[in-house]
Amino acid sequence: MAAAPVIIVGAGPSGLTAAFFLVRAGVPVLMLERGDRIYDDPRAATIHPPTLEMFADSGITAKILEKGIVARYWQFRGLKEGQVALFDLDLLSDTTGFPYRVQCEQHRLSRILYAELEKSPDFEIRWSTPADAVTQDADGVTVTAGAESFRASYVIGADGGRSVVRKSQEIGFEGFTYPERFLVITTTHDFEPEGFSYSNYLSDPDRWAAIFKVPGDRPAGLWRVTSPTTPDEREEDLLDFAQAEERLQKLLPKEGGYEIVHTNLYAVHQRVAETFRKGRVLLIGDAAHVNNPLGGMGMNFGIHDAVSVSAKLAAVIKGEANDALLDLFDRQRRHAAQAFLQFQTIQNKQVLEEKDPVQRGKRLDDMRAAATDPVRAHAHMMKTSMIEGVRVVAAIE
Ligand SMILES: Cc1cc2nc3c(=O)[nH]c(=O)nc-3n(C[C@H](O)[C@H](O)[C@H](O)COP(=O)(O)OP(=O)(O)OC[C@H]3O[C@@H](n4cnc5c(N)ncnc54)[C@H](O)[C@@H]3O)c2cc1C
Repeated sequence: MAAAPVIIVGAGPSGLTAAFFLVRAGVPVLMLERGDRIYDDPRAATIHPPTLEMFADSGITAKILEKGIVARYWQFRGLKEGQVALFDLDLLSDTTGFPYRVQCEQHRLSRILYAELEKSPDFEIRWSTPADAVTQDADGVTVTAGAESFRASYVIGADGGRSVVRKSQEIGFEGFTYPERFLVITTTHDFEPEGFSYSNYLSDPDRWAAIFKVPGDRPAGLWRVTSPTTPDEREEDLLDFAQAEERLQKLLPKEGGYEIVHTNLYAVHQRVAETFRKGRVLLIGDAAHVNNPLGGMGMNFGIHDAVSVSAKLAAVIKGEANDALLDLFDRQRRHAAQAFLQFQTIQNKQVLEEKDPVQRGKRLDDMRAAATDPVRAHAHMMKTSMIEGVRVVAAIE
């Protein structure tokens, strides 16, 4: 392939989505990826309705539905109270053709996208190629990776929270980091017979958690439990399977042990880049914003960035639009990141961990009332399913 007009750094879900839509629009892409394959640690697993809508025409949604678990309901629970509120996403069928979440791990989605990209002569990927610097001039960008350098008209930084692309342009990344890390424990235990939906949030002043079903590598699926840790807990203890089992027993005691198949520990941040566009450099996904995983929004939002930037960049490269269109990408997506992604995920965590008993009682009552009143339930799910944010952003000029 001759020098591609666009280099994408990072083959995560955001970068692969941008590549997929650029190539589909006839724009060749060179992708640089630090790893030697698609990264498959257990991170995002929830796909929301707008993401399914954006992938529908291309046939990707049908493939996600083949691999994923359709979750029509999600629950808000109290650790001691049990089910507090049950939200039925089918109420959104007046608004979307996909009134549900799909539980499908991000590496599965990445592989679906990669399998399509591999078929195109307009796509090239260089594995084991960590970008270490990006410079730009009036005519283009240069990305270096060790002794090699690559030239293009534009670069998309999709290289995750520690983005070299963002840092190389000295773009600030303001926000904060939570003192507690989140532990993800994957178990074979099936929570459904105990009354859980495929997607659940458990509130508790000390031991809140999020519990989800994922396809995993077995026909019956697997369940993931995400919960906070305290800063003094040692990483090796937290990751130890026996201690993870004890932790689950303290959370939800059961006879017989929990079979643990995986543990993972994450630092959690709330940050947004000061701009998503600097000249010929564009940022998407975790390179542009990071947030806590409660509500399952980070990957979805990165995909929405990718859909937006690829459409605008394709129009600019094909001479159909002025490059000021890329400023619109920045305005729309950065506003959405602040007003919806940061706001909603910070609020999701506050609701789960509320310590003040009076305030906690009010929050639980509020959830109960929201789920039982169809008008309020609809409004709540418009926000938590990311539909409202997508609509508001589309109206920004
Ligand atoms: C526990 C947990 C649960 C989550 N659950 C959800 C969920 O249910 N739903 C949801 O929407 N989000 C969720 N998220 C967030 C989600 O995982 C991220 O938002 C998502 O991975 C971002 O995708 P990305 O492609 O932007 O970045 P990444 O997935 O981080 O991919 C970045 C890629 O860039 C590569 N790279 C990095 N540096 C370089 C370099 N210098 N040169 C070349 N390549 C490089 C990396 O190897 C990687 O492949 C969760 C996160 C965590 C931690």
